[in-house]
Amino acid sequence: MSAQNITIVGAGIAGLVTALSFARKGHEVDIIEQAQALSEVGAGLQISPNASRILIDLGLGNSLSKAMICPHQITLVSGLSLRKIAHVPCGTFAAARWGAPYGVMHRADLQAMLIEAVKSQSRCRLHLNQRVESATIPTLPERLGRPAPLLTVGADGVWSQTRHLVPGANSPRFSGQVAWRFKMPADGVRAILNPGNVTAFLGTNTHLVAYPIENSTAINMVAIARGADPGQTWAERENPTDRVNLLEAFRESHPDLLSILRDAPQMTWWPLFEVPDGRWSNDAGTVLIGDAAHAMTPFAAQGAAMAIEDGYELAQAVSDAAEDEVRQAVTQYETRRRIRIGRARKRAAFNRFAYHARGPVRLGRDLLLAVKSPESLASDLDWLYGYRAAGL
Ligand SMILES: Cc1cc2nc3c(=O)[nH]c(=O)nc-3n(C[C@H](O)[C@H](O)[C@H](O)COP(=O)(O)OP(=O)(O)OC[C@H]3O[C@@H](n4cnc5c(N)ncnc54)[C@H](O)[C@@H]3O)c2cc1C
Repeated sequence: MSAQNITIVGAGIAGLVTALSFARKGHEVDIIEQAQALSEVGAGLQISPNASRILIDLGLGNSLSKAMICPHQITLVSGLSLRKIAHVPCGTFAAARWGAPYGVMHRADLQAMLIEAVKSQSRCRLHLNQRVESATIPTLPERLGRPAPLLTVGADGVWSQTRHLVPGANSPRFSGQVAWRFKMPADGVRAILNPGNVTAFLGTNTHLVAYPIENSTAINMVAIARGADPGQTWAERENPTDRVNLLEAFRESHPDLLSILRDAPQMTWWPLFEVPDGRWSNDAGTVLIGDAAHAMTPFAAQGAAMAIEDGYELAQAVSDAAEDEVRQAVTQYETRRRIRIGRARKRAAFNRFAYHARGPVRLGRDLLLAVKSPESLASDLDWLYGYRAAGL
């Protein structure tokens, strides 16, 4: 296919990866972002090998190896007794088994490295401080003084405006779960975890994931429990009631874990929304990707990874198609990705069930995990982490 114009709404991880993926295929890309400056506070991300493989292929290997910490293992620990239940090896094991590193990093670092790559790619133009509404999306080319695009990609997250242009797309629904994100100095939590690992503390209807960021000097923590639907909102600074609710939800946890939650500095409170299965494209040149298409709960830590896979595979599918076959290529992309996203969602739902189990289910879970070797637990993840996005 000859070089085409692509418009992307949203410069989150999905939008930026999509821009780089299209630009390296020779296309001209405009990215429209509502924020005046791209920055994000206090949250970490786990980057699994299925995603890191793509970032490396996009030329980000060096920046990634500087910013990403590769944990030794993912450890499952009882949040009630602090007893270790099971682990999956990471580090060199992950790189050898899945062909790319498993890492953790500050989300702002990932976004910064993507923005730098986009800015140094002459085929990409980033337009900040430009909020769009669904009705104004068709007028974007005129506003930007650009020719009509071959494709408009909605990478505008859970509360997508682009979604309104896609008949049959589903709307966000509250998952019933909320997350509290905060960070602690690594020295302050050594009593309950190894700062070189990803540790998931499994509790009653709750769990807390901890992993190193900032050169391992700090630990990123994400606590998840049931919560009330706040309506359409995004991350917020916690208020005093949020902390009371958090401590109430984790009341059965080990006292050392509880005291970390009680004494932790200011947290960010995130209601968790998902976008259930629905259409992602409108057969008229608009396609949704990432959270705009299929936001999922973070129980399998795959939302950003799926967004990265989406952007890369969409650019590949469209660039491989003849100019009069783009709609078909997008439909085939959607069909193929739907299967993968469905599996990732099921894994997240399974983790939610297993991580938050109580009573006999918890006992059964612990017995089952105790007899499984770390290699066998790793092999359960081959389909997810060993995945090679189309074109890789
Ligand atoms: C607690 C928690 C932990 C998580 N942990 C992980 C993890 O470990 N690993 C992982 O892979 N994923 C994780 N995720 C999921 C991951 O953060 C998201 O799936 C991912 O960031 C989605 O990226 P996106 O680019 O699709 O959307 P977003 O990050 O929401 O980006 C959307 C962009 O579009 C812009 N925008 C929105 N509306 C408009 C508009 N009208 N006009 C212009 N611009 C607009 C926004 O400003 C934003 O820049 C986690 C999520 C949560 C909540």
